[in-house]
Amino acid sequence: MEKETYLNNCPLCGSRVINGMYGLSGYLMCNNCLLGWKKKLKSTEYVTEYYVGKSTLARRLFTPLQNFFYSIRQWYAGRQKKKLWIDVGAGEGGFLKTVKAKRRIGVEISSSGKKMMKESGLDTLSDKEFIRTKGLGADVISFWHVLEHVEKPEEYLDAARNNLKKGGKIIIGVPNIDSFEFKFSKQYWFHLQPQFHLWHYSPSSLKKLLQKSKFKINTIDYWSIEHHLTGVLQTFINKFSGSKENVLHRLVKRSAGGSKVRLGDIFWSGFFLTLGAPIIVLFWTIGSIFRRSGTIVVVASTGRKTP
Ligand SMILES: [Zn+2]
Repeated sequence: MEKETYLNNCPLCGSRVINGMYGLSGYLMCNNCLLGWKKKLKSTEYVTEYYVGKSTLARRLFTPLQNFFYSIRQWYAGRQKKKLWIDVGAGEGGFLKTVKAKRRIGVEISSSGKKMMKESGLDTLSDKEFIRTKGLGADVISFWHVLEHVEKPEEYLDAARNNLKKGGKIIIGVPNIDSFEFKFSKQYWFHLQPQFHLWHYSPSSLKKLLQKSKFKINTIDYWSIEHHLTGVLQTFINKFSGSKENVLHRLVKRSAGGSKVRLGDIFWSGFFLTLGAPIIVLFWTIGSIFRRSGTIVVVASTGRKTP
């Protein structure tokens, strides 16, 4: 179902709405908290085979790097031992499998993803089950690039609050529209993903959303290698080749729509991975230093401290 919504006031802070997201049509944006959203909010239907990715050579070569990224994801949660870690939008459980915790639950909408997690010995819940559940007492609940996909993010945050133990943490990774990267690349921005992303956050709008759900931000990290640095790389390739196909990303991750690979994509991928790499690293560093990175990782808690 497609519906035009929140045309006049921001759903988070009630402020005036601007047509276009930094000039990009098809989006609306809040003048005050810098929340952006698609004019027509339409829930994405994830096909059943979404997670049955072929194990290509590129993907296998990428595995050590992916595991390094996963170890950083765990680092955000601190060193203390975990009894229960819940990962929302867990996909096929690639990350959750690497998590050190007594019990691990993957929340996932796609049945193929859940099936693969069960085969790896992980517990699973559907999105609807998670939203209804209370009192699981998790040490950590993580949302890796999930809240920009769901129509009602507040439902997920309420569920997170209901299922955290006292002093437990949530970890949220999202794209950031208040970034140099988005302003530089607009429709070529890797994290725009118009077919999947309904909401676009900024540090201030995410803070508002978390306040509404009674969470307090502990830290915001602007330096993500996994999402910010690689996002800059793919954004530069897109912008210079004039393509929105996200070729490099598709090569190493699941293929999400589109299949065209053009000469320009190959040339600019090769360039920014070699001679042009310092440009990418410089752009990533400047974005991170000035807190205008293409993605952010927020760690928040309910404010109730463990005794
Ligand atoms: Zn707002």
